[in-house]
Amino acid sequence: MNEINEPYLFQTGKHAGEYLEELIFKNPDYIISLNNYRKGKNINRLQNHLEALLENTPRYKKICPICGERTAKYFLFLNHEDINKNLVCCENYLCQTELKINHPQDYLLPIKLKTALSFRSKRLTKEALRLIKEAVGIRKINANEIFSIFIGEQIK
Ligand SMILES: [Zn+2]
Repeated sequence: MNEINEPYLFQTGKHAGEYLEELIFKNPDYIISLNNYRKGKNINRLQNHLEALLENTPRYKKICPICGERTAKYFLFLNHEDINKNLVCCENYLCQTELKINHPQDYLLPIKLKTALSFRSKRLTKEALRLIKEAVGIRKINANEIFSIFIGEQIK
């Protein structure tokens, strides 16, 4: 098992010298093209690192607008086609019910990088990344900060 203890720097290829942490936000299409780690074979250090970034629950900053207590971890996928940064809530059942009250057909998606990179539309990926940035409090794209928010806490 590879230790993940710092941002992933590409050593070769057209993105040599760039960080995976930054490319997810700057060039999500490229990362989506790499995202075949789930196939289970040829798991390398890059795929391992990417899996951690995509699957981990990040450290959230934005507060749930409904209870005003816990952090927002979910967003409403409005009409299955729109993302609105104000339609978010925490994990609490009452908050989730309240958020969905006017949108019974819609569902909630976790505010995670995996969600953003799972959309088949560039527009939705971009909007989801923007929502994630706001939810975790990223203003400038910086590899160390992104690492610390999405992976850092898991490191003992
Ligand atoms: Zn709440």
